[in-house]
Amino acid sequence: MIKKIIQSWLGNKKKLSDKPSLQAGHENSQNHGLDKAKIHHKKTHRIDKGLISDAALKTIQGLQKSGHKAYIVGGAVRDLLLNQHPKDFDVATDATPEQVRNIFRRSRIIGRRFRLVHVMFGSEIIEVSTFRGHAQDEQDDSKINESGRIIRDNVFGNIEQDATRRDFTANALYYDPQQEHLIDFHDGLKDIQQGILRIIGEPKQRYREDPVRMLRAVRLSAKLGLDLDKKTAAPISEMADALSEVPPSRLFDEMLKLFLSGHAMESAKALRKFGLHHGLLPLLDVVLEQPLGERFVNLALANTDQRVLSGKTVSPAFLFATLLWHEVLASWQKHQQHLPLMPAIFAAMDDVIRIQTDKLAIHKRFTAGMREIWAMQARFEYRQGRRPYTLLEHPRFRAAYDFFLLRCESGEIDVSIAQWWQQFVEADANSRAAMVLPETTKSKSKRRRRRKRNGGQAADNSATGGTDQHDAH
Ligand code: ATP
Ligand code: MG
Repeated sequence: MIKKIIQSWLGNKKKLSDKPSLQAGHENSQNHGLDKAKIHHKKTHRIDKGLISDAALKTIQGLQKSGHKAYIVGGAVRDLLLNQHPKDFDVATDATPEQVRNIFRRSRIIGRRFRLVHVMFGSEIIEVSTFRGHAQDEQDDSKINESGRIIRDNVFGNIEQDATRRDFTANALYYDPQQEHLIDFHDGLKDIQQGILRIIGEPKQRYREDPVRMLRAVRLSAKLGLDLDKKTAAPISEMADALSEVPPSRLFDEMLKLFLSGHAMESAKALRKFGLHHGLLPLLDVVLEQPLGERFVNLALANTDQRVLSGKTVSPAFLFATLLWHEVLASWQKHQQHLPLMPAIFAAMDDVIRIQTDKLAIHKRFTAGMREIWAMQARFEYRQGRRPYTLLEHPRFRAAYDFFLLRCESGEIDVSIAQWWQQFVEADANSRAAMVLPETTKSKSKRRRRRKRNGGQAADNSATGGTDQHDAH
């Protein structure tokens, strides 16, 4: 320990021109490999240290004070070099998760496939990961399945090994805010300056190890405006099927990032270009091939991008409800051949959610919101009696109405109905009363019958089913 502190102290005293030394924190990191790195100085990389969060700086200071090496790494360094505001800061260190945990009182170890530490400063969380290496023998805590996919990755290593197992050259840069050095093993700075996103190592092998890297390639090139290097892009189409091996929950997280990046449109286009959408939202490809479906999805994605880029919140439930709407619509029409309007939409929703969640593990809290938005679409069919009022009073009316407007804009809804709702929403109480359509005697007597059946309770429960198509309009 004393040796460590002295070494780190000496390291901090080094002149800027010296290469920083790497502290061997554990067995596998004896070979530092720093001689293979380029060290860029401030005048070359021009990173503005002022843009780094205090929490990240404090984390690095805490680790360095305890004799460890610590750097800002990954997306944050890349974003700083591209003059973009990093959305969060990740730190890489030679300290083990337990050592990190002991240094910071407010921290916790997370993850199984990849153990790391969350260090908390108020509401900000800094993710600290230990340098990863390659598994040397069977006892190492690393696991690869028959097709070469890494399913556990907890073998520690040195900084060079850590850089090599990262995905893209632009994501493998290590920044030391203390000395303002940028450590670069894979010419990441040059690639960023030339606007290229390039995978590290042999592309096919890297995609086999982790097929999600294909999605990351598409997402990051769209988000950052970087061109995918030719060799990086080449195997993606032929390897797209490998995504089916990825656990659905991981796919869903990646899809969320992709669609909420503010570049959903470009990402969706790139997904199609590489054939990656087949494995993601099953049947989305079919939807995109129908002119109306494609129009609707494009409008929804453009709308999402606009909201994200102007700093507004986007609800994942709303987004996924739009992506799958034309699936629900097709199935709804089929079910209406033997079921009334509302039960038919419930049956359609069940079908679509079942198929999609097998693949994508859309979280329950999102599927509940999606169902709500979809079910309310059927209620826009009713414009008589109390029904438009009860819809308007629904706590989630706004989301459902925004969704309905997208349907109108895409040409799915009859113009007169779309106009009616727009006027109804904006009108005052008197005008609304004048707009409501008269209830047909048939629907009245039906409701009376239902009220009787329900023991006299109010029966405007359209969202729970029980009305039929003749009630509409
Ligand atoms: P974003 O801006 O979307 O957060 P990011 O590159 O920071 O992009 P993270 O998921 O936060 O993405 O990952 C942090 C870093 O971890 C990456 O920059 C990269 O170095 C490494 N990384 C993430 N996912 C992978 C992967 N599948 N394979 C290899 N390295 C990865
Ligand atoms: Mg990140």
